[in-house]
Amino acid sequence: MNHLDEIRAKINIEDIVGGFVQLKKAGRNLKGLCPFHNDSRPSFMVSPEKGIAYCFSCNTGGDIFKFIQLIEKVDFPGAVSILAEKAGVRLPEFKPEAHNEKLRILKANDVATNFFANQLKESKKGMEYFIGRGLSEATIKEFQLGLAPDSYTALRDHMKSADFDEKLLLDAGLISQRSIADKSTYGRFRNRYMFPIHDQQGNAVGFGGRIIGDGEPKYLNSPDTPVYNKSFVLYGLTMAKNAIKKEDLAIFVEGYMDVIAAHQAGTKNVIATSGTALTAPQLKLIKRYTNNIAFAFDADSAGMEATKRAIELAQEAKLNIRIIQIPDGKDPDECIQKSPEAWKEAIKNSVKAMDFYFAHAFSIYDQNDLDGKKAILNLLLPLIKQASTNMEQNEHLQRLAYELKTDAQYLWQDMKNLAQKKVYRPASKTEVSAPQKETFSREEYLLGFILEHPDLYEIVHSNLIDVTSFDAASEKIYKALKKVYNSRSVIDVEQVRAELSEEDQERLNVLPMLVEEYYPDFSQEAAKKEVTSLIRQINMKNIRASQKEFEFKIRAAQDPGERTLLLNQYSQILKLANKI
Ligand SMILES: [Zn+2]
Repeated sequence: MNHLDEIRAKINIEDIVGGFVQLKKAGRNLKGLCPFHNDSRPSFMVSPEKGIAYCFSCNTGGDIFKFIQLIEKVDFPGAVSILAEKAGVRLPEFKPEAHNEKLRILKANDVATNFFANQLKESKKGMEYFIGRGLSEATIKEFQLGLAPDSYTALRDHMKSADFDEKLLLDAGLISQRSIADKSTYGRFRNRYMFPIHDQQGNAVGFGGRIIGDGEPKYLNSPDTPVYNKSFVLYGLTMAKNAIKKEDLAIFVEGYMDVIAAHQAGTKNVIATSGTALTAPQLKLIKRYTNNIAFAFDADSAGMEATKRAIELAQEAKLNIRIIQIPDGKDPDECIQKSPEAWKEAIKNSVKAMDFYFAHAFSIYDQNDLDGKKAILNLLLPLIKQASTNMEQNEHLQRLAYELKTDAQYLWQDMKNLAQKKVYRPASKTEVSAPQKETFSREEYLLGFILEHPDLYEIVHSNLIDVTSFDAASEKIYKALKKVYNSRSVIDVEQVRAELSEEDQERLNVLPMLVEEYYPDFSQEAAKKEVTSLIRQINMKNIRASQKEFEFKIRAAQDPGERTLLLNQYSQILKLANKI
């Protein structure tokens, strides 16, 4: 048992929260006025069973450590020491061995970086690859690019001869073990072009490797290690940080080659995430250098999704956001190879997030057709609603009204109706009091039920049509459920938890509470009925959405072949709709 578990075992959540909030019993849980927002009716729920306190109105809360962090305004170590004192638990002393291990791993990464760089120098084909992609020898050296030879043993044996033992190399993610049964080891990176990843102090903390020729996976990254946490590291930041400060702007691109090409072209304030989508900690890191960021992601649909999510995150982090649109839908690397001037021009012509959304909406839908107009509204109104002042909302709505040739007052009305439409009320009429704020989707309720009754997942698995539009946080949980079920044919919530980041684990804890809150004392049979009904509603909603999309596409299709193909797909959707 570590000291955190010991504290958890000795302290009850209800006692801790009870010190700040007057709690009353409500079924299995306790309820009180939320201390984190101006609460007029009890919205703060405490689950002694789960060790969690959470407000469903302002979405704030967590376990005992999170609660103390929030209410005492301290960081995690601060909360641990407050609670350790209450619990009478002695905290472990600072461990120099752990620190030493980190230093040894950094040293090992350094030696590996040199090994890969030397392998590249000796490989004519390897050098030709990078030079063929437009890089100079100076750039190759500056970014310490390298090559991992096509060998299971070369790196491992080199590292061992430099006095690093296998345990350390495993911890550093440089070698892997064949299996739990077969403990023999081999180099993690083989037959790859190597991109060392540095922290902001310039230490090599991990590697990204691109396959030489064709093969899977195309990119392989170091696993998270004691010195490398993907969510906290930005590729290229060591080389970019001075330029970011000077320009007062950080430009995010998608790939390693995009960063390197941009630096070589003289735009040095460019960075990328490595092996993850953009995270909140990465934005916090960049905030040390500037409040202005720009995204130059690929123009394909994946890049478009990435841009939308990045904008949302950056808005939460209160950063000023611009979007760089690369001409002809290329990625930055391609664009720079052809014309560094076009790249610099694109940076100069960056647009605000809302301009980007407007351009996107009007490029995919027809603004002269009623269905097209509706689709544009569906895309833009929720985004406009997020704007923090009425003045901004008004400005965007005026512009939208002008483009759609309608009156802004109708759009105001549509925007106001938006939140109410999303509301989902539980089907059972008895005993369910209307909650103060209903912002939960059917998908979230469904996940709540599954986490409360994991054996009901089977119904989801065989009935939910897999085009479901979950929100970002729920989607991760849904995917984790699917993964666990596919590998074991049964849902073990702890396995699901292991698939999730710490942030998403919190969601996992909270969703079942949602069900407990709105469906008190639900039997297994009633839960099953409710799950079946939720699945049906979600399927219907999704089918209707894709039906509409196809109707629009069919009308817009110019090419007869494309039209036939779309009609075929459309008739399959109709069949599916009839089945439901
Ligand atoms: Zn609250």
